[in-house]
Amino acid sequence: MSADNIPCNRDNAGLPTCVVTIVVPVYNEEEVLPAFHRRLITVLETVAGGFEVIYVDDGSRDATPEILQQFHVHNPAIGIALLSRNFGKEQAMSAGLRLSRGACVIVIDADLQDPPELIPSMIDAWHQGADVVNMRRRSREGETWLKKVTAHAFYHVINRLSDVPMQKNVGDFRLLSRRAVDALNTLQEQNRYMKGLFAWIGFRQVSLDYDRNARVAGESKWHYWRLWNFALEGITGFSTVPLKVATYVGVASAAGAFAYAAYFFIKALTVGDSVSGFPTLIVTILFFAGLQLMALGVIGEYLGRLFIESKRRPLYFIENYQSSVPAARQDTDNNKVDII
Ligand code: UDP
Ligand code: MG
Repeated sequence: MSADNIPCNRDNAGLPTCVVTIVVPVYNEEEVLPAFHRRLITVLETVAGGFEVIYVDDGSRDATPEILQQFHVHNPAIGIALLSRNFGKEQAMSAGLRLSRGACVIVIDADLQDPPELIPSMIDAWHQGADVVNMRRRSREGETWLKKVTAHAFYHVINRLSDVPMQKNVGDFRLLSRRAVDALNTLQEQNRYMKGLFAWIGFRQVSLDYDRNARVAGESKWHYWRLWNFALEGITGFSTVPLKVATYVGVASAAGAFAYAAYFFIKALTVGDSVSGFPTLIVTILFFAGLQLMALGVIGEYLGRLFIESKRRPLYFIENYQSSVPAARQDTDNNKVDII
């Protein structure tokens, strides 16, 4: 589904004012949602040009949809899209980006880990010409040391493997200009490793530092197994290096085996051969069997993803969408200007 974009207007002083879209993916956030909404709206009311908020409910099973409905009823600038089931944050964000109509879009988590108070500085950076404003975490409060260490290791690995540099400590909290959003919306793949896609589209990118807070209420939906799979998505989606590694490991081990064979041959010729070496034999066989299975596993990871991509299924289904009417919209036709 694609939406009609809202063009920028000019204010009384002749300066362009543009509607900003805020995309919020939400999944089972009943505890924190009212507090988040209050803080968000307080900030947005200061934004010249108006705003729309698109809450994408990712198949919540708690009272989240009812709370969102209340927001929509009380404020027409709030749009709500209910996905038909839980598709995952990446898909929910994609839905929000496609429904967005503002001249720039900010993606923010609902758990108040990303402070809404930073929105004006992000908009300033966009006014200064940035297409993508990445929010870089200076600190990661409320996260265990294990999560910090694994996150560090992951960024290290993915940056060694991937063609596009992926910034460390940058999450999904960011601003995108309309052309960056339009570029992202053309990407069809099922593998929505958004950090990678945001980097892949290019355009003028800037980063702002901020302190990431701990979750205000509720709990993180990211457990280690999920994070591990997420890391695999990132690596397989943006690099074919693991496939090449299998080739090189194969070549290296074959060369090693060859040298080992030569050693035995020479030994047999010079000092003769006694029938020993059974342990060596079994260890070698098991070692190579293991290597082969590992290489097959790597191929399998790519093949599995190819299989999923080949079906070309839609990314998500929207069960119900109630569109927003952006606040403070100046709709006089004669003062419309192009989207900035
Ligand atoms: N989220 C979502 N779908 C999911 C999981 C999470 O839309 O399947 C939303 C969630 O409601 C929150 C944001 O994505 O607004 C970030 O989720 P979370 O706080 O669990 O992730 P973390 O901050 O731990 O990375
Ligand atoms: Mg969070």
